[in-house]
Amino acid sequence: MHEHGAEVIWDLAHSAGSLPIDLNGCGARYAVGCTYKYLNGGPGAPAFLYVHSNYQNKGWQPLSGWHGHASPFAFEADYTPAGDISRFRTGTHSALAYTALEASLALWSEVDMQALREKSLAMSNLFRECLSDIFTAHNIDDITPAASERGSQVSLVDSQNGYAIVQALIARGVIGDYREPGLMRFGFTPLYLSFEDVWLAAQHFREVMESGEYQDPQFHVCDAVT
Ligand SMILES: *Cc1c(COP(=O)(O)O)cnc(C)c1O
Repeated sequence: MHEHGAEVIWDLAHSAGSLPIDLNGCGARYAVGCTYKYLNGGPGAPAFLYVHSNYQNKGWQPLSGWHGHASPFAFEADYTPAGDISRFRTGTHSALAYTALEASLALWSEVDMQALREKSLAMSNLFRECLSDIFTAHNIDDITPAASERGSQVSLVDSQNGYAIVQALIARGVIGDYREPGLMRFGFTPLYLSFEDVWLAAQHFREVMESGEYQDPQFHVCDAVT
């Protein structure tokens, strides 16, 4: 793509913290991501940006701010972006959000990403295997991509009851989400979830289906966040 003049910005929201990523090895120039999913930075945690060192003085982002200025305290009339990665900054960051993220990232520096990936795949497979008879009995489609093509998420389709099933599970403390049309999504955070947690989540899923609990009208009320 680069040879045709196109730029690609990779979205690592579902990759960072769930599988090994080699941006240099892939020839990536730009990537962005959030830290509140698999990186466990907590609600409101800062986003991140990657720019290959050869492109740090070329690209620019549209929300320029004084932290990205070459000399932020010179109060010049014109905007001159810094010559390095700092040109992508905007304004003052939330120190509290960074402190929480720092605590998480300190742990990540000790993580063997290959071992993490193996655990992630084992977890998504365990969840699906525990429930394969339920999927068949209730016409639920397991559309989770093959291991080589997925992150750390299981995707199931029930176009009639998907939303209500997810709501019934949330009421039991198993937090998945729902996206139209009919898609139930379950993310497995390999860093701190145990296989027992996954097995228990599958048990809840089984009970919700076998008891018909999802049919309760309270689980059919549509919220803005699904
Ligand atoms: C979560 C997510 C993001 C992050 O969006 P925010 O605006 O930072 O919350 C970006 N892309 C994808 C695909 C995501 O799932």
